[in-house]
Amino acid sequence: MDSFKKIEQPDSLSLIEEKALKFSPDKMEKDPEFKDWLEKMSLDDFGNLLHFCFFLAVFQRASDLHFKPYGNKVSVLLRKQGELQEFFSYDIEWYEPLLRILKNWSNLPSYKSGIPLEGRLCFPFHSKELFVRTSIFPTVLGEKVACRILNFRENLLSLDELGMEDSTKNFYTEILRKKKGMVVICGSAGSGKTTTLYASLLWLLQQSRLRQNISTIEDPVEFIIEEFNQTEVNPFIGLTFSQGLRSILRQDPNIIAVGEVRDSETALMAVEAGLTGHLIFTTLHAQGTKQALTRLQEFGASSSTVSMAVTAVLYQELVPKPCPECKKEGCSFCGFTGQKGLTGKFELLALQD
Ligand SMILES: [Zn+2]
Repeated sequence: MDSFKKIEQPDSLSLIEEKALKFSPDKMEKDPEFKDWLEKMSLDDFGNLLHFCFFLAVFQRASDLHFKPYGNKVSVLLRKQGELQEFFSYDIEWYEPLLRILKNWSNLPSYKSGIPLEGRLCFPFHSKELFVRTSIFPTVLGEKVACRILNFRENLLSLDELGMEDSTKNFYTEILRKKKGMVVICGSAGSGKTTTLYASLLWLLQQSRLRQNISTIEDPVEFIIEEFNQTEVNPFIGLTFSQGLRSILRQDPNIIAVGEVRDSETALMAVEAGLTGHLIFTTLHAQGTKQALTRLQEFGASSSTVSMAVTAVLYQELVPKPCPECKKEGCSFCGFTGQKGLTGKFELLALQD
């Protein structure tokens, strides 16, 4: 992450964050006090307004943040679950100074260049960092901005960082290398299944040097990886796991990830995909490798189909990590517990053909 510039935070940050958390698109009309606050805060320092917009993007789980000038207004839009929606608009007079700050944050020349620009910035959010790709495009109405929120990519771990024993990891990557069959990642809620899923997909991405169609259906998309084709479950428009998976299968995929298998239809389709030459990952709530296989049978897959389709079941739990300073002896760094943080503990069940 070389070219991400870290930006400075204003003193009034917590108030800006709180206001952004409580914001909804009808807020401006319903709450004149809020409108006054936004105006005062912005005129005070346009960096505040930018902070507000990025907080808004975080809280709304938006994938993109747009600034679009039109007439005497600038529209602030967020893309959520694929839909672009205006959240508020402000006076065009504020645009130029705001743009100047955004360009500065993104390491871009501050003058109006008339050519498309691409930059990056890093927005600090609590102890995390939000990575953002900024694109500025000259339109006839002015410079339009689109910021792609790359999410907290620093939270993503590689396969090497999961805490897997070397023998397990080697065996696991050997199975992934075959690029076919069904891989089930299981464990209880909060055991880090999604982290393992992303680590596996990123490993495959690296191996394939982008020459693979990696498609996912998730609820929600937790990390945006531009090289993947990620879709989010949206029950309001009938986009369920099974519907999403059915569509993905028509998109010529190599590698598929189904965020979670919760119903028979999805389970059977995933098993089928595993049988027909795809590499398909799913996560399952199960308390062990054998139990995961039983779960698939409870969803209606026969035991012979399951054993043909499934190539690996990876069970994981989080366990305390030995203190790196004292190696379990107990010291001031670990509060004399001998432990510091958590790590994954894995059990791999490989099903050979
Ligand atoms: Zn220690």
